[in-house]
Amino acid sequence: MTKIKRFVFNDFKTNCYVLYDGSYEAVIIDGAANSHSELKELYDFIQDNFLIPKYLINTHGHLDHVCGNYYLDSHYRIPMLMSFEDNFLIENALCVADKFGYAIEPPPKPDKNIKDHDIIKFGDTQLEVIALPGHSPGSIGLYCEEDDFLISGDTLFMESVGRTDLPGGNYEKLMNSIINRIFKLPPDTVIYPGHGTDTTVIDEKKYNPFFTD
Ligand SMILES: [Zn+2]
Repeated sequence: MTKIKRFVFNDFKTNCYVLYDGSYEAVIIDGAANSHSELKELYDFIQDNFLIPKYLINTHGHLDHVCGNYYLDSHYRIPMLMSFEDNFLIENALCVADKFGYAIEPPPKPDKNIKDHDIIKFGDTQLEVIALPGHSPGSIGLYCEEDDFLISGDTLFMESVGRTDLPGGNYEKLMNSIINRIFKLPPDTVIYPGHGTDTTVIDEKKYNPFFTD
């Protein structure tokens, strides 16, 4: 059984998740910690639970999701995985941070680019990469069939959807990703988004104003 710990980090209230199971192996999803206290909270949780981080995975390359990657990379020296289509966002991260008046250390480039249908394994857990372009060109979800959950990034939120006005964003692609990928998952699949609380596929089909009349 995969356990999911959610942290809410930085000024953008971005969710960073630690997934782990009985093997003690773990993955960190979206390295959003951007202060000493936030990093300490994450490091302490990992240490207190005897976890062994195996990968740092990014759902996409936006600043608020990668701003702690520099520190996590220096601390754990684990491979960083992200979609190729969002590499340009990592390359531009310092410029974007500057525009927002936000000081960050340069996020490292991905060690490996992941793509649709790739399988990421840690401990006894398997995550399938699902391409969800729209919020950014390389947005992905991470689906665990065995435990019925999806880490959705900023594609779908509880009763809302991701913005598409940032570079490379595309509203038609976003809606297509939700309708033809996320909504095709089993109805009870729990969705853990990049911001806000978790929801389910069935609840979003029923209550999300973007998909109801
Ligand atoms: Zn984003």
